Amino acid sequence: MQKTRVLIVEDEQDIAGLIKHTLERGGDTRADVVSSGDAALKAVLDQPPDLIILDLNLPVIGGLEVCRILRARPGTSRVPIIMLTAKTSESDRVNGLDVGADDYVTKPFSLRELAARVRAVLRRGKPEAGAPDAAVYRGKFLVADFEAVAVSVEGQSVRLTRREFELLKYLVENRNRVLSRDRLLERVWGYDRLIETRSVDVHVGRLRGKLGPVGRQIETVVGLGYRFVE
Ligand code: CA
Repeated sequence: MQKTRVLIVEDEQDIAGLIKHTLERGGDTRADVVSSGDAALKAVLDQPPDLIILDLNLPVIGGLEVCRILRARPGTSRVPIIMLTAKTSESDRVNGLDVGADDYVTKPFSLRELAARVRAVLRRGKPEAGAPDAAVYRGKFLVADFEAVAVSVEGQSVRLTRREFELLKYLVENRNRVLSRDRLLERVWGYDRLIETRSVDVHVGRLRGKLGPVGRQIETVVGLGYRFVE
């Protein structure tokens, strides 16, 4: 069986070593350690890992920047990233999620908790068997053909405005991931600074209303944003 490959990006060697030891204990994971953002960006070039644990505070290139670069590259745009943050401020968490981290763990953390998060993120990231067509999403209630711009819930087609459609598309494409209002504004509305973040809430509200049982799959994550859950 092929081992799960995890890349640990952490400049504090003690912490990196403990994480590596914890993850490799079960025998089904191989964890590599690099101690700088620069080295991380190089290490993922040959063969992207299955998951990256990324410290926020790194010398030279910080974790946020590394995350942003990884997300912008086609080879690593979908590799799950768990961010380690020493700070407990909400803005750090939001920033991390904004640049595309899947989850975050605040230092000091328990190794057990981190290992559990790793398992959860890997589970979420598994592509569905037999559903390779990225343009069509087939969920329990929702079928959305993003190329044909056709959305149906429990077999009934649903009419959405262009904005609602784009919002749903972005939520579904990033399913199980928390998306901040700012990120949604940026990706769905463009860079229009005149739009208030509150209009995201209004559109999400309308979208939920139109989608019936699927509306409940769009969760509000208090203080952070929204998440489409499967
Ligand atoms: Ca560090």
